[in-house]
Amino acid sequence: ISAPPAGDPAQHHTEHQPARLTVLAGPTAVGKGTVSAEVRARYPQVWLSVSATTRPPRPGEVDGVHYLFVSPEEFDRMVAAGEMLEWAVVHGRHRYGTPRGPVVEHLAAGVPTLLEIDLQGARQVRASMPEARFVFLAPPSFEELVRRLVGRGTESAEERERRLATARVELAAEDEFDVTIVNDDVTRAADELASIMGVAAAPRPVAR
Ligand code: 5GP
Repeated sequence: ISAPPAGDPAQHHTEHQPARLTVLAGPTAVGKGTVSAEVRARYPQVWLSVSATTRPPRPGEVDGVHYLFVSPEEFDRMVAAGEMLEWAVVHGRHRYGTPRGPVVEHLAAGVPTLLEIDLQGARQVRASMPEARFVFLAPPSFEELVRRLVGRGTESAEERERRLATARVELAAEDEFDVTIVNDDVTRAADELASIMGVAAAPRPVAR
């Protein structure tokens, strides 16, 4: 399932073809949520999948909009019924998964579809839908990721080491992806993602 390259005359006839799935993943704290929210806000033709999770809502999060907030029992049922395209335990605590039905429906209707999931989930999608495009969101530098991870310096030395070790392993996963976007600036990164998804014009060089 892939659209012809831009400029291909066959593109005139693609209206009813299934769209291609895009998966955005990357290390903890790189800003995947911020970049995908920016794409959704600026490119309303993109559909962002709503994940199911067993974690409780944070203030301001709306059930069915930010996540489907489900009980552990309901999550078990969805997995057992084969309703999850992928799922994972994230940060060793709560479970997160992508309900398969809405993804399949949006793709069949030709809607450009975006999943914002963790690395474990991206690997599962790679196994079941290898035709998807896999985008790695990278920090501008390892030092910047460390800054975002360690944040206010409230973690113990042990917790800091644990997070840094995780970040190193996660950064090494970049090779598994089709393309890397550097999250140096949210608006620019969102434009690049939209361009990769074929919903925005490719950035043009600045005229001098
Ligand atoms: P948060 O709890 O901060 O909203 O999300 C924590 C992490 O869960 C993020 O890294 C996010 O990418 C990941 N995540 C959110 N939804 C899904 C999902 O459906 N599947 C997987 N595998 N990870 C997800």
